[in-house]
Amino acid sequence: MEYTPSVKELSHFPFLKNSKDYIRTRYSSLAALLDGEYGEILVRHALHRIRDALSVKRRYGEDNPCKPEEAIASYALARVIISCINDRQLIDRLTRYEAERAYYFLRNEGGDENSWNTNFQRTDDGYSRLFMYLSEELGISITQDWLPLVDYVELVAPIHEDRFRLINRVITKGQVHVNKDEMYELLRERIRVLLHQNLPMKVPPAVCKQLAPRLAELQKVYQEQMLQQFGTIEETAFPPCIRALITAITSGASLTHPGRFSLTSFLHNIGMEKSQIAELFARAPDFDAEKTMYQVGHITGGGGTEYSAPACAAMRTTGLCVRPDVLCERINHPLSYYKVKKKKSVGLGGKK
Ligand code: SF4
Repeated sequence: MEYTPSVKELSHFPFLKNSKDYIRTRYSSLAALLDGEYGEILVRHALHRIRDALSVKRRYGEDNPCKPEEAIASYALARVIISCINDRQLIDRLTRYEAERAYYFLRNEGGDENSWNTNFQRTDDGYSRLFMYLSEELGISITQDWLPLVDYVELVAPIHEDRFRLINRVITKGQVHVNKDEMYELLRERIRVLLHQNLPMKVPPAVCKQLAPRLAELQKVYQEQMLQQFGTIEETAFPPCIRALITAITSGASLTHPGRFSLTSFLHNIGMEKSQIAELFARAPDFDAEKTMYQVGHITGGGGTEYSAPACAAMRTTGLCVRPDVLCERINHPLSYYKVKKKKSVGLGGKK
């Protein structure tokens, strides 16, 4: 493809090879990037980026305008900072954020007066050339709305949604049909997985030492955010589906694979330690410690992928949405149920 993205385009997709080259041509080393007053400014932008990643409100730098080259540098430094802290949940938050950010800019790229990309051009495949450029670099071979079966299977592996299962797909001559909206979602997922694979990076200890005061600041913000979002675990705020799974364990029933997966990922996402999750499974009469620790470890990121709890739609498909209550009508994710219910119980002075 005879096309090289502009610096502005690169600034929204700073993980691209051209973005990295752009930074390398300007800064000979990491130390040079961090040097002097300008280095301080770049670190500030990087911290802002990480705070955005931690925030519940999705922001993509609108409240922190910076030049395209600073945006690219802030991405690089955010990865350095996160690698120095080396916390799995933080890495997960940042990579999700970066993938969502790229998705946001791709979806708002061109076509109306709110679009940001003056270079926008549509290709014969019906996507923008920037979208095709990204897909090609990230190893997705799109032909119109079709993907090779092998690529498709690899792309959807981390996604636990029924609509992506092969059984629900049109497959012809080794190609799987994927509509345009889904193609964007798959690209987002590919970005997340690739960025996650490359973190943490090896950062020279001297650099982490130099950044230490900023890291401490960030960790404080992160802890406060976690406390705000989930705080201490309140079993009474669990949604009916999760309570039903716990009741099933306690009464000696063995859970289906989706049941175990949903319960473990939910508990992990609300901040429960692996050992606490295993303790919960230990309520089952046929508790097998070794097997449980292996499964819990795998779902909570031991295999390199940290899973998110399934949304209500997926829970319904696997038959795990049971006895939904009034609050269920207003949410679409068990985690949202938990947050809302917990907030309510705090608002009532802890009365449940
Ligand atoms: S609606 Fe959602 S939160 Fe409520 S029981 Fe069903 S899956 Fe759980």
